[in-house]
Amino acid sequence: MAEFVIKLRDLEAGEKPYRFELSRSWLERALAGTDMSPPDDANPGIATVKAMLSGRDVLVRGEVDAEIAMTCARCLGPAVVPVHAPITALFTPAPSAPAAATSPAPTADAAAREGTAQRRARKPKPEPDDADVELSGDDLDREHFTGETIALDDLVRDQLLIEVPFNPLCREDCPGIAPERAPAPLESKADVIDPRFAPLLAIKLPNKE
Ligand SMILES: [Zn+2]
Repeated sequence: MAEFVIKLRDLEAGEKPYRFELSRSWLERALAGTDMSPPDDANPGIATVKAMLSGRDVLVRGEVDAEIAMTCARCLGPAVVPVHAPITALFTPAPSAPAAATSPAPTADAAAREGTAQRRARKPKPEPDDADVELSGDDLDREHFTGETIALDDLVRDQLLIEVPFNPLCREDCPGIAPERAPAPLESKADVIDPRFAPLLAIKLPNKE
């Protein structure tokens, strides 16, 4: 169930800031199916966004910060990494949405309008209506919404997962697992010393005082 919800009618007075706390249970659900999890005693993550209406669309901008427990890429131990992700998304009404709960049964006219909406939705560039909002289409997520609310849960989750480091480290100078194995080659060197020289080693030892 969505926890980060924006009501359209709250935006009618203008841009509105939101602050959503990423609860542990939310993060658990968001990370389900991955090898990541919420850290044992992490601060809750925070998503801060501003939302504003742009015609019938809703522009959401902000950022999310959270801590995520992963596997250290060097030592394979637990690594808690901070993840910071930008959030920039334009929510447009879903073209296939039933013409809202307030409308009567769809008519042929409504169906025709829906068809138009679908064609418009496929256009890659913003409609002229959006021209007053400066949007750089490349780093803008495009989402659909239905009804009178927008749920940011999926968007927040996706953005977090995008920004998760590819090679997480438990700490910057993690030595990895190699040093634990380092003594092994020395031992094996000793093992392969020609047995004929073994008496020489025995002679040297007393001289090391
Ligand atoms: Zn490590």
